[in-house]
Amino acid sequence: MSLRSSPDEKRMGHVQLSASTWKYRHEIVGIVTKVGSKVEKFKVGDKVGVGYIIDSCRSCQNCTENLESYCPQHIPTCGAKYRDGITYGGYSDSIVVDEHFIVHIPDGLPLEVVAVGAVEARVCLVQRMQHSEVVLPLTLKWLDKPGLHIGVVGLGGLGHMAVKFAKAFGANVTVISTSPNKEKEAIEHLGADSFLISQDQAKMQATMGTLDGIIDTVSADHPLLPLIGLLKSHGKLVMVGAPMKPMELHVFPLLLGRKMIVGSFIGGMKGTSRYD
Ligand SMILES: [Zn+2]
Repeated sequence: MSLRSSPDEKRMGHVQLSASTWKYRHEIVGIVTKVGSKVEKFKVGDKVGVGYIIDSCRSCQNCTENLESYCPQHIPTCGAKYRDGITYGGYSDSIVVDEHFIVHIPDGLPLEVVAVGAVEARVCLVQRMQHSEVVLPLTLKWLDKPGLHIGVVGLGGLGHMAVKFAKAFGANVTVISTSPNKEKEAIEHLGADSFLISQDQAKMQATMGTLDGIIDTVSADHPLLPLIGLLKSHGKLVMVGAPMKPMELHVFPLLLGRKMIVGSFIGGMKGTSRYD
């Protein structure tokens, strides 16, 4: 199935890429097979990736500040209504995308590795695209100063990247999890400095008021109050997971500590391309 046909006059700035190796729906990798006459960044044969969105309005405040993912009119790569039909993302055999929403993948990195990495090892560029929402809070002057004590809640794909980026920014990192069997992975494989079981009341109590920020990657229902308690005054709880149900929020601890709870989605194209 072809998502959209080959570039025509309206698509002079667009790139078509094959989908032979992509496996996922919202973030995809492939080889450029055609380019429009005005395409400047890509040529046929390039290895490229497309993240969660394939278009935005290009004129709102978010778009002009390189935060297209926050554009009210952004178009998701899969399952969205587009001007000429529905976006099928990784379900399609080929896709035509404006070059603004495409990133290069280095020649030395096999697409199979990138694609497999998205599911298994959760490494490489696809993950950077998928999980740039983790990078964003760390680089928006929220939590990016070396020496900060950062908590990472949950150790799935998002949590892995949160630990790696927080360590790269020079933070002291504590992984907070409900699973004791994640400790070895957190400490030995990812380089976290400490590991905290969220049901361990004694250790949770001992950690109260010690974290500058927390990146909460958990999408399952979970209480926020214990996490708020772990923050120092002025600390920030950054939600990057997406629980489906409304969460209970105790406001008083926020008032007393001037603490903040914020959300963060994926990064814009400029931020994502920085890691090319
Ligand atoms: Zn916009």
